[in-house]
Amino acid sequence: MNTTTSTTTGAALDGFTHTTGPARIVFGRGSLAQVPEEVKRAGVRRALVLTSPEQAEQGAELASSLGDLAAGVFTNATMHTPVAVTAQAVTALRETNADGVVALGGGSTTGLGKAIASRTGVPQVVVPTTYAGSEVTPVLGETEHGVKTTRSGLEILPEVVIYDPSLTDTLPAALTVTSGLNAMAHALEGLYARDGSPVFAVLATEGLRAFRDALPALHRDPSDQHARDAALYGAWLCGTVLGGVGMSVHHKLCHTLGGSLDLPHAPTHAILLPHTIAFVAEAAAPQLAPARDLFGTPLGATLHDFTTAIGAPQRLSDLGVAEADLDRVADLALTSAYWTPRPLDRQNIRALLQDAWAGHRPGSLASPVGTP
Ligand code: NAD
Repeated sequence: MNTTTSTTTGAALDGFTHTTGPARIVFGRGSLAQVPEEVKRAGVRRALVLTSPEQAEQGAELASSLGDLAAGVFTNATMHTPVAVTAQAVTALRETNADGVVALGGGSTTGLGKAIASRTGVPQVVVPTTYAGSEVTPVLGETEHGVKTTRSGLEILPEVVIYDPSLTDTLPAALTVTSGLNAMAHALEGLYARDGSPVFAVLATEGLRAFRDALPALHRDPSDQHARDAALYGAWLCGTVLGGVGMSVHHKLCHTLGGSLDLPHAPTHAILLPHTIAFVAEAAAPQLAPARDLFGTPLGATLHDFTTAIGAPQRLSDLGVAEADLDRVADLALTSAYWTPRPLDRQNIRALLQDAWAGHRPGSLASPVGTP
């Protein structure tokens, strides 16, 4: 007889440790107007506003709403947080006498704010405009000479996050879908994380539910504000899970693929997700029960159907990955050891990559080599 007590998500109450970040969260349509108040509350007198080049105009508007609280705008936030860009931004911080940052944008801009804070100790106010979730994690990935290194520490975690869903109304349809699937990946891996907790299981399940409903609605109508609100709420929950537990085979493979082949972050997550979840579905069957309740069975195949229905990219080959690259990626994926619910070996990881390269429904017959 099973004597373990379990929660409604099926998480076992047989002992756990739960740590979560102390960030202050402000959520709501129109909450961008609260940035000046939150900047002051964080003890910042002059904030350097950070954006990507594409969001420079939004950054200028935010700086103007900050009035005397704005020290300037730095508009060169770049994917994968290159150390050279961070050095330019730290110089801008010093030259403008700024004592805090306001990062407005996706994970790339948030990453720059974290990189500045980790070097200078200045407080960060983050205004996320995608679903990446970086704003609630104490993790920073940086690149130098083509090598990405990741580190974690409380000094990296932003102090305040302002989620204003109206800023996501402009998120292009393709990025809406891939960024949402990136967030769902945090929650799915959080469900079976070795250091998970019943609280993270609740957050992950609620985050997945939000995206299960919001992404099809946004695929039908990108201007659906209720769906935008729900998706950003889901992003916060999924990001909180990412910040609290260790990720596994899905995130590690995306990291390996993205780093070695310079692939775009969110589409890589979107393509791999049905395949990595199919890979662990049996080994982590009890922990993935809430996801099966939401998406159906078998989980990898039903996730493939879900991502297809919302117009997500399906094939690594569409990102320009050559079949010949897969052997190298499989070798690289085995070089660093990490925990997974199902042990990796050369053969099963290569087969997973082949499936993701060809983009067929997990569980269906594998495509012959060479046919994407
Ligand atoms: P991104 O920040 O690179 O943004 C992609 C593009 O979309 C940019 O041009 C950006 O300006 C634009 N954009 C963002 N929001 C928009 C909006 N609302 N409307 C119109 N355009 C908009 O993409 P991302 O997927 O959010 O972030 C990816 C980066 O974040 C990667 O470097 C990844 O490693 C990092 N990341 C880190 C963590 C962590 O915990 N450390 C977590 C997730 C992602």
